[in-house]
Amino acid sequence: MMAQYMEVKNQYKDCILFYRLGDFYEMFFDDALTASRELEITLTGRDCGQEERAPMCGVPYHACDIYINKLIEKGYKVAICEQMEDPKLAKGLVKREVIRIVTPGTNMSQAILDETRNNYLMCIFGCNEEYGLAVCDITTGEFRSCHVSSTAKLYDEINKYSPTEIIGNGAFLSCDLNFDYMKEKMKITISEAPSHYFNDDTCEDFIKRQFKVGSIDGLGIEDDQEDILISVGALLQYLHETQKNSLDHINRMDVYSIEDYMIIDSSSRRNLELTETLRDKQKRGSLLWVMDKTKTAMGARMLRNMIEQPLIHKDDIEARLDAIAELNNSVIDRDEIREYLNTIYDLERLMTRISLRTANPRDLLAFKTSIHLLPAIIQLLGNFYSDGLTEIREGIDDLHDLYELLDRAIVDEPPILIREGGIFKDGYLEDIDTLKNATTDGKNWIAELETREREKTGIKNLKIKFNKVFGYYFDVTNSYKSLVPDYFIRKQTLANSERYTTEELDRLAGVILGSSDKLVALEYNTYVELRDTLAAELTRVQRTAHNIAMLDALCSLSYVAIKNGYVRPDINNDGVINIKDGRHPVVEKMLNNDMFITNDTYLNNHESRISIITGPNMAGKSTYMRQTALIVLMAQVGSFVPAASADIGICDRIFTRVGASDDLASGQSTFMVEMSEVANILRNATKNSLLILDEIGRGTSTYDGLAIAWAVVEYISNSELLGAKTLFATHYHELTELEGKLSAVNNYCIAVKEDGDDIVFLRKIVKGGADRSYGIQVAKLAGVPDVVIARANEICNQLIDKDITTKLKEIKITNDFKPKNDDTQMSMFGSLAESQVIEDIKCVDLSNMTPMKALLYLNELQERLK
Ligand code: ATP
Repeated sequence: MMAQYMEVKNQYKDCILFYRLGDFYEMFFDDALTASRELEITLTGRDCGQEERAPMCGVPYHACDIYINKLIEKGYKVAICEQMEDPKLAKGLVKREVIRIVTPGTNMSQAILDETRNNYLMCIFGCNEEYGLAVCDITTGEFRSCHVSSTAKLYDEINKYSPTEIIGNGAFLSCDLNFDYMKEKMKITISEAPSHYFNDDTCEDFIKRQFKVGSIDGLGIEDDQEDILISVGALLQYLHETQKNSLDHINRMDVYSIEDYMIIDSSSRRNLELTETLRDKQKRGSLLWVMDKTKTAMGARMLRNMIEQPLIHKDDIEARLDAIAELNNSVIDRDEIREYLNTIYDLERLMTRISLRTANPRDLLAFKTSIHLLPAIIQLLGNFYSDGLTEIREGIDDLHDLYELLDRAIVDEPPILIREGGIFKDGYLEDIDTLKNATTDGKNWIAELETREREKTGIKNLKIKFNKVFGYYFDVTNSYKSLVPDYFIRKQTLANSERYTTEELDRLAGVILGSSDKLVALEYNTYVELRDTLAAELTRVQRTAHNIAMLDALCSLSYVAIKNGYVRPDINNDGVINIKDGRHPVVEKMLNNDMFITNDTYLNNHESRISIITGPNMAGKSTYMRQTALIVLMAQVGSFVPAASADIGICDRIFTRVGASDDLASGQSTFMVEMSEVANILRNATKNSLLILDEIGRGTSTYDGLAIAWAVVEYISNSELLGAKTLFATHYHELTELEGKLSAVNNYCIAVKEDGDDIVFLRKIVKGGADRSYGIQVAKLAGVPDVVIARANEICNQLIDKDITTKLKEIKITNDFKPKNDDTQMSMFGSLAESQVIEDIKCVDLSNMTPMKALLYLNELQERLK
C-alpha cells in the first residue's frame, strides 16, 4: 500500500495528498506534518517497512470538506485520491486514483465561497511585457479573456477581478509586479504552470474541444492574438488536469478589449471604495453597499461586476437607464418581481453542480423552487417595453417542463445522500412504487408473524428484531427459554436472551431485504438519469440565470434610485460634466437627518477644464471630489445618480490621487507612492479622462511640493499634452494664482464662517480661492492642548511669507515641456551603483583568479548593473 501511495504522491508533489483508506482520508510524511499543524489534528505514525514509522494523520471522509477548505484558505492545493473499487470485492490491493485536485481557484465548496462574489481563477501568459489573460469562474462557467499591453495595466486587470488563484508562465512570474504583496495582502495563490501548457497547438486543441468549435475564429480570437489563445488554452489544461471532468458548463467565452470599459486603475479602485472600504476592507461603507439591494446571489455578482466595469458607449448606458426608468414608473410590478426573485436560489451554481453531476436531491429541490415562479416573472415583464427589459424577458425560459418533472419526481423533504433511497414521490415510477410497497407490506408481514408466533408459543414478550449483522430474528429472553418450539433455529446466545429464526422468517426477510436493496439501487439509477436529463438543458438554464441576474441588478438599481432620491443622468459625448446639487452616495448615508450639503460641479473640455479647490482642513474637499467621480462612475454603470440633475460627458478613465498612504509592503515611502501615482496618471490619462487630485506635493518640502503641484497643473491644462478634466484640491493657496494665467483653470473654495477664533464649516463650494487653511483651528477642534495652539499661532504669524505670492506672480506659464539635458541625465540611484561597480573592478586581483572565477565575477557585476 505504501508503494502505491508513493507512486501517486510522486505525481502530485505540489499538493497535499488525501489518500482514502476506508472511512478516512490519510496523509503521510511531510503532508502529515503540514496538515496536522495547519488543521490542528493529531499526528500519529504507521509502520511502513522502514526503521522509523511514517508520520500520519487523517480526517473522516464524510467531514473532509471542512478540512480541505481550511487548507485551501491557507493557500495549499489538495489532491483527493479515492478507492476506485469496492474494498470488499477487490482482489488484493484496492485500486486508487486521484479524482480531483482542489485549489483556491477551482474550489466549489458552498461552505467556503461567498455567494455574492465570483471565485476567479486566472491564467496569465507573458511575452515581452505584453500579456494574454484568461479568467474563469468554474462555479458559474463564466470565461473571459483579453490582451494586456503593459505590466501596469495587467495589475489593474488583476485588481478588477481579485482572483483567488493565478497560474502563469515564467515570463509573467519574473515581471515587475510585487508578488509577495499579491500573495500576502491580496491573498492570491500564485504558481508557475508547467511549460508544456503554453504550446500553441495544444492550446488550440483544448479550446476547440472545450467550446466545441471546428476553428477558433468564431470565438473572437484574432490571428494576431496568440497570447490570448495561449492563456485560454493553458487555463483549460489546468482545469482539465485538476478537475478530471469534462466541464461542459464552460461553454462560452467572451474575448474583450480593456478599452471597451471605463479604465479604473488599481489605486483609484481602492481610493473610490467601490466594493470595499480602504481601511477595513469591508463592504459596509463602500459604493456597492449603497447600491446592492439585490435579491439573488446571481444578481449580487452581476451588480458587483457592473460597478467594477462601467460602460463607455452611450447606447449601452442609455439602455440600462431606460430599463431603470421604466421600472421606476411601475413600482408595483417591480416590487412584485423583486418578491418573486426572493424565491430564486443560486441557479447558476446549482446548474453547474447539476452539469458536473455533483448535485444532490436537495439541490434539485432548490432548483425546482427557483424555477417555480419564472412564468410569473415572464408575465410581469410583459408589462415593460424598453429594449433592455424586453431582451431580458426573451432570455428567460419558463422551464416549466423541468418544473413539472421535478415536481412529480422529488419528495418535499429529500435526503442529501443519493445512495440511501427516499428520494422519489409515489407515482413517479411504477417499479419504485412496487418495491416500496414490498418493503412496507413486508413490515406488516413481520408484525403479523410476530403476533401469530407469540400466541402459538405462549412467549408473552416474543419480538422480531433487526440488526445489520443478523438481519431479522426472534428475540427470546431467558425466562421463556423453555417455551421455545422445535422449529425455532438458534442463531446466537446472549447473556440474557437467545436469538432464533424460522424458515418463514428467513423467507420473509429475504423478500424484504431484497426489495429494499433493489429499491435503493433503483432510486439511485433513476436519480442519476433525472440529473442527466436536467444537465442536458444546460444552455437554456444558463441563459435564464444570466437574464435573471441582470433583472435583479436592474431592479436593485431602480429600488435604490427611488429610495435615495436619485435622478436619471443625461449622457453626452461632448465632454461636459454638469452636476446640480450633487451628493456623495455613501457619506450622505452615514449622516443622519438630511445633513448632507449638496454641491454643483461644472467641467468641460474648454475654459472649465481644471478646478483648483482650496479651503480649510475638514471642509469637505475630498468628499466633494470623490462625489463627482462617483456620480460619473454611477452614470456610466447605467445607474441613476444622487443629484438634482446631472449631465455626464462619458469619461474613458477615472484617475484618483487621494490622501497620503504608505505602501510599506512594496517598500515605498509615502511620497514615493504619491509620485508614482502622479506619474501613472500623467502618462496614461487622455483628454477624455477625469482626474481627481487631492493634495499633490504634500509629502515633501513646501517649495518642492508647490513647484511640483504647479508644474502638474500646467501640464494637465495644456490641451496638446493632456487636457483632461481635473479637480485639484490643495492647501497651497498660492496655486490660485494660476486662474488668471491659464485659461482652463478656475478657482473654487469651500466656504467656512469664522466665529471669533473658531470656524464653522458650511460645506458649500463657491467660486474663488481661499487664502488660509485654518489648520490651527482644526488642530484646536481635535483637542491639541491650548498652550501648543497658542504657540503655533505665534509662530505662524512670524512665518507667513508675504514674498512667496509676489514671487509666484512673476513665474511665467510655459508650454515648453521638452526634456532638458536629456543625454547627460542619469538616475541618482543608477549612478551610485555604477560607480561602486567601477571601484570594485579597480580593486580586483586578476592575477589570483582562475578564468572560471573571473567569468563568474563578471556575471555578478553584470547582475548588479541590471
Ligand atoms: P482635509 O483637507 O483635512 O483632508 P477635507 O476638506 O478633504 O479635509 P473631507 O475629508 O472631505 O474634508 O470632509 C470631512 C468630513 O466632513 C467628512 O467626513 C464628512 O463627514 C463631512 N462632510 C464633507 N462634505 C460634506 C457635505 N457636503 N455635507 C455634510 N458633511 C460633509
